[in-house]
Amino acid sequence: MFSITNPFDSTFLSEHQYITDFDAEEKLKISKKTFDTWGFTTIAERLKFIKNLVFALTKKQHFLAKQCTLEMGKPISQAIAEVEKCQILCEYYIKHAEKFLESRQISTDGTQSYVVYEPLGVILGVMPWNFPYWQVFRFAIPAIIAGNTVVVKHASNVAGSAQLIEDLFTEAGFPDGVYTNLLISGDQVKAIIENPVVEAVSLTGSEKAGASVASIAANQIKKAVLELGGSNGLIVLEDADLDSVIPIAVNARFQNAGQSCIAAKRFFVHKNIFDNFIEKFTKAVSVLKTGDPMNEDTYLGPLARTDLAEDVGKQVNKSIEMGAKVILGGKRDGAFYTPTILTDVTTEMPVFNEEVFGPAVPVMSFETFEEAVALSNKSNFGLGVSIFTSDVEGIKTKVNLFQEGAVFINAMVKSDPALPFGGVKRSGYGRELSEEGIKEFVKVKTVYIG
Ligand code: NAP
Repeated sequence: MFSITNPFDSTFLSEHQYITDFDAEEKLKISKKTFDTWGFTTIAERLKFIKNLVFALTKKQHFLAKQCTLEMGKPISQAIAEVEKCQILCEYYIKHAEKFLESRQISTDGTQSYVVYEPLGVILGVMPWNFPYWQVFRFAIPAIIAGNTVVVKHASNVAGSAQLIEDLFTEAGFPDGVYTNLLISGDQVKAIIENPVVEAVSLTGSEKAGASVASIAANQIKKAVLELGGSNGLIVLEDADLDSVIPIAVNARFQNAGQSCIAAKRFFVHKNIFDNFIEKFTKAVSVLKTGDPMNEDTYLGPLARTDLAEDVGKQVNKSIEMGAKVILGGKRDGAFYTPTILTDVTTEMPVFNEEVFGPAVPVMSFETFEEAVALSNKSNFGLGVSIFTSDVEGIKTKVNLFQEGAVFINAMVKSDPALPFGGVKRSGYGRELSEEGIKEFVKVKTVYIG
């Protein structure tokens, strides 16, 4: 048994019991049985259900948003935007999935040769709490449209939101077993991956969970996709237009209380504009509206749990002990952590060399472009980087210098259904979204006619 409390006011929300291994296995059997028919339907037939799902999402937008705000403290306006993004994702694949999965003719010495993309079977998703709907949709929708069935172990602290996702699929009329919510603990995941019915696994979460899940999958010679942590750099070159950079930089770090894998977590600003940047950025951050996440105008709510706010506090305090200077914030109150800006930061400090999953940002200065690139690349992670400049053409020729899965110029790093999403180094491997994402969980079958 475990209970969920509201991180905003610590009130009790609900109590849950993990299902037994036996019950989980029964659900896998249903998922496999459903795959045996679902996997042989046409994409057009599957898309009819996805259209129903869009309808259900639209109808329940506020209800869904409220549940995740209660469970993990996301401000309601950001929670609504998250549900809307799930709708946009569905609509994107409704439009493009058939084209992406069309067979491809290849010219060889045979009479004819081509590849077809077939589903793999039952796919396990292990998902985090920070975007409780988006993360699941990003994994499940393309996998299901490709003909797979999915079973999802969601994060325990959003068990209510997890159930609502399964309810949406039921309401949309999907056959029982196409989408299954598995209310299990992290310890129960091993047996699920080892079950012969499960063909592959996709995990979004921490390095620790990713390493564990991927090694269990590897032992079974099963495919894994890992979307793990990040510590993106945000580089402001001397020629950047500061007034347009500041609002983007604020959002890039403080949206969702900083609890985003692709948040900009380390800022690098050219020394000639450093003081000006700090002044303007501090002014913009100090007026962010913090408070009850249920209020429409709240920008910053609590972190998802008090222990997560404590973790951010430890990283900031240790960095201060090592010499960092607090420009703003640096205080914790329960699950709230005040928006924090640090300067005089070195690469040895936790706020630089660890992922800070909360609203705190180190700002460092640099002199040369090469120095900025080196600082940005000095990370175990490799999800993305943002560069701000008025010389877009010049930067386009230097994209190859960045060791990242994504380079965004004059924009914050964000996920978009049309763009491949994923990292390198300790940020994981594999891609979600776009054509690449829908092809992660398919069998690429070669056909050759002599
Ligand atoms: P987490 O502890 O790894 O939890 C993620 C999921 O994994 C939860 O469902 C969790 O279940 C489960 N889990 C935990 N330990 C496990 C284990 N040993 N075996 C199997 N499953 C396990 O991550 P988090 O702290 O919730 O999320 C924050 C991390 O996720 C950050 O590093 C963040 O950057 C990363 N993240 C990455 C992306 C991306 O797209 N790259 C997106 C969002 C977040 P329980 O809740 O039951 O423990």
